Amino acid sequence: MHIFHVFKLQIRPVRSNPHLVCVIGGLRITQWINSNNHHKRRLAITYAETESKRININHAKKYNFFLVFAITNINLPVAFLVLSTALEIYKKKTKKSSLLFARSKKFHVNGVSHNIRFFEPYPFVTRSAKGKFLKDIDGNKYVDYWMGHWSLILGHAHPAVSSQVKKQLPACWMHGTVNEMTVSFSEIIQKAVPVAEKIRYVSSGTEATMYAVRIARAITGKKIIAKIDGGWHGYTTDLLKSVNWPFDQKESKGIADDLHLVSMPYNDLQKSLEILNSVKDDLAGVIIEPVLGGGGCIPATKEYLLGIQEFVHKNNALLLLDEIVTGFRFSFGCLYKTMGLDPDIITLGKIVGGGFPIGVICGKDKIMDIVNTNSHTKLDRSYIGGGTFSANPITMTAGRAMLSHLKKNSGSLYGKLNALGESARKELTRVFDGKVVTTGKGSLFMTHFLSSGISEIQSAQDASKCDTKMLQRYHFDMIAKDEIFFLPGKLGAFSAVHSQSDLKDLVVASQRFAATI
Ligand code: PMP
Repeated sequence: MHIFHVFKLQIRPVRSNPHLVCVIGGLRITQWINSNNHHKRRLAITYAETESKRININHAKKYNFFLVFAITNINLPVAFLVLSTALEIYKKKTKKSSLLFARSKKFHVNGVSHNIRFFEPYPFVTRSAKGKFLKDIDGNKYVDYWMGHWSLILGHAHPAVSSQVKKQLPACWMHGTVNEMTVSFSEIIQKAVPVAEKIRYVSSGTEATMYAVRIARAITGKKIIAKIDGGWHGYTTDLLKSVNWPFDQKESKGIADDLHLVSMPYNDLQKSLEILNSVKDDLAGVIIEPVLGGGGCIPATKEYLLGIQEFVHKNNALLLLDEIVTGFRFSFGCLYKTMGLDPDIITLGKIVGGGFPIGVICGKDKIMDIVNTNSHTKLDRSYIGGGTFSANPITMTAGRAMLSHLKKNSGSLYGKLNALGESARKELTRVFDGKVVTTGKGSLFMTHFLSSGISEIQSAQDASKCDTKMLQRYHFDMIAKDEIFFLPGKLGAFSAVHSQSDLKDLVVASQRFAATI
């Protein structure tokens, strides 16, 4: 038996199956593959691919990869490193999920209850979650960077929250009357977010932004709301426009009126002001995220936000700052303070609910007064604030526990989280060697695979022109092979339970993926 010298290893994707990679080496096959002789080259490549596929199917049942030295029937020494495809690995290890998800599809449209939770071929089904891990019903354990739509900044089932919720449960989880914890929770929020002179709680971010829009229209007596291309504020009919690329197409049937919504490009002050100027007489408000989350994890420049604010206030409209993702994410409080902004309304959600359903509308007294049903008649009030489960005892307890813990640990906790995010952006950009830009801020980060001549990401337009399929492939590859979970195509978030060693694992997984593209 010969031991062949593995010479000049080459990694080649297999043409018939983009998930399959073969690594070929050996002096003659390398020479043949690199040669100008078309026939020899075809023969060598075809043989390598056929052999990889055969070996993959027959032998790679158990392992993600293995190395095989073979003498081919055309007498070429070849070394194959055969990798099972991510799809094959995933399917093999999520058999119970596959069956359960097939059942789920019988009851639920697309099998899910939030559109983005579906990914091909089917999402695994989670059984439990603790700390940094998600565990599925097949027993796989994933290091989680999705963290409950980025709401779980302390990780899953953190004792600081669960202990308080457990204490509250025997007393009551729902009564629909006033409770004490709402008051102490609001005290904490108001100290950290001075704009929150008055607060209303609801059960989702969507409700909060819907009410913010209604208040803006009620106060100004005007109708038009401006939003950002790629800005996502939940499923409220009022804001369902220009969310997904291409932004000039309607998002949905069934929207009776989106004429009172205009959309502008993020971080492009000149264009945005032109658009605002064209509607200024009927402009009720601008709703904007200080970091565009769903639209590509892109921070706004301070100049952009200040420029928009100046225009809005000069033209008797309201600045609605959506901090549902950014609130309590980078420091104990909101981002607006650090940017010198003076918003009229802030919406919060996600983190502040401690992992329970929440939306918060915060505003200055003079703004929020319009929702006061005692001092206003039907004709001059804005009617907001329903919700069977608004300010329910469990959410209020969990939110208060979350913010109390964050406040107590804010120095070390935010320092660590922001540093992890900073390193991730640097490391991932390095690993992909000019093929990506990693955007984000603090502990939020997202890898964009550059294409269409894009070299920097300032807006959702830029992000949408990148290779979003490659991003999904990258995330799916890590789910299958590395047990690292990002919701495919979405930004990732570090939480308090992640460490430097998780970052190292993420970098190694990314290096392995980078070698295949
Ligand atoms: N605003 C922003 C910025 C969001 O990211 C989201 C949710 N991803 C929402 C609003 C809607 O929140 P919810 O899903 O709780 O309705």
